[in-house]
Amino acid sequence: MAFSKEHVLEALRTIRDAKSGRDLVELDAVRKCAACDGFVTLTLGVTDNSVLRQQLKEGVENALRRKAADMGEALKSIAIDFVTPADAQQEIKPATVQQPANIPLKQASSGPTVSQGAAPTPAGAGSASLPGVKHIIAVGAGKGGVGKSTVSVNLAVGLARQGHRVGLLDADIYGPSLPTMLALDNAEVTLRENRLQPFYVHGVKAMTIGKLVDPEKPLIWRGPMAHGAFKQLVEQTEWGPLDYLIIDLPPGTGDVSLTMAQMMRLTGAVVVCTPQKVAQDDAVRAAKMFAQLNIHVLGVVENMSYFIGDDGKEYDIFGRGGAEMMAQRLGLPFLGAVPINMALRENSDKGNPTANFTGTPKLSEPLMNTVRLVETQAALAAMRTGAGPQLVVT
Ligand code: ADP
Repeated sequence: MAFSKEHVLEALRTIRDAKSGRDLVELDAVRKCAACDGFVTLTLGVTDNSVLRQQLKEGVENALRRKAADMGEALKSIAIDFVTPADAQQEIKPATVQQPANIPLKQASSGPTVSQGAAPTPAGAGSASLPGVKHIIAVGAGKGGVGKSTVSVNLAVGLARQGHRVGLLDADIYGPSLPTMLALDNAEVTLRENRLQPFYVHGVKAMTIGKLVDPEKPLIWRGPMAHGAFKQLVEQTEWGPLDYLIIDLPPGTGDVSLTMAQMMRLTGAVVVCTPQKVAQDDAVRAAKMFAQLNIHVLGVVENMSYFIGDDGKEYDIFGRGGAEMMAQRLGLPFLGAVPINMALRENSDKGNPTANFTGTPKLSEPLMNTVRLVETQAALAAMRTGAGPQLVVT
């Protein structure tokens, strides 16, 4: 019999609180629990004490491995996350899921800390890459409104049109755009065996924080909540095997990028920038943040680069070439220029990105050009780190 959630709970029943003698399940410490194909994900609600948490983590891992070994199985991965009571109440919850109430092993004496106990590790040494996902590419920008989500969506759809298996994660927890850009407003999140099922739209598997929180409420996240929300989105979505997972990051530099770098090994990041000087300055900061997090920058996309008028002429409204020059200055590859295009804006508002590739070549060509350049840079980056195909001389 395959190792299931019930077996996880049986293992957790062998771990008791020394004071009360009650086990982890009796204490209602299990906030989330899922097991599938040898992968176990657990969230435990316990006091914010790093020593206790470390001991508990080791004890739980041993109990799970023992239980699996008794059944003649080996676990591939155990991901244990801890929450404090304050965090727990504000975690994302799909409306359809019943979560057990969080009762901490002990009452927390202080508030939650931003670091969750873990020091950032360089992305090159990321602890848990997503199994079955070949390339993880983050799309970032120095500021909001420059077209980061537009580029993410069109990159994902373009890669899918090239025949790749593509996932798209909207991790812009402060202003998720995917529900609109992919017309998911009326779509319902579904769960199978406690795993979020991505939406399959325009040839892409998509998941967005926008479908897990109240769209009317302002999204205010403290550090640990942003960390937890991103982790949940990545780990609890059933992506299946993918050639590319595109991650639409929140604008600027912040918690989500840090969590991402801690969690997974990325192929690289794409920086989106408009041509103006003020946008370039922010984009330089974003590129430097990626470098600091040991995330390889695949290159820069110049969005809203120029405008094609009805007269067929190209107008350099924002100073075309500004982002390309910035890329050159930083020694980064230039991944192409996307024009200001009314159809692009309309298709985004309607949630129909496929139309960007089937309409005028004035739009589809620059978009596909960027898709191909990203493919090339991702392949080069993967070869450099040894993750991609390698030449073997016999
Ligand atoms: P960000 O993710 O950086 O905040 P968005 O991708 O949400 O930015 O874009 C902001 C707005 O600008 C959206 O309405 C989008 O449709 C529009 N937009 C983005 N790029 C273009 C473009 N090249 N041409 C026309 N409209 C664009």
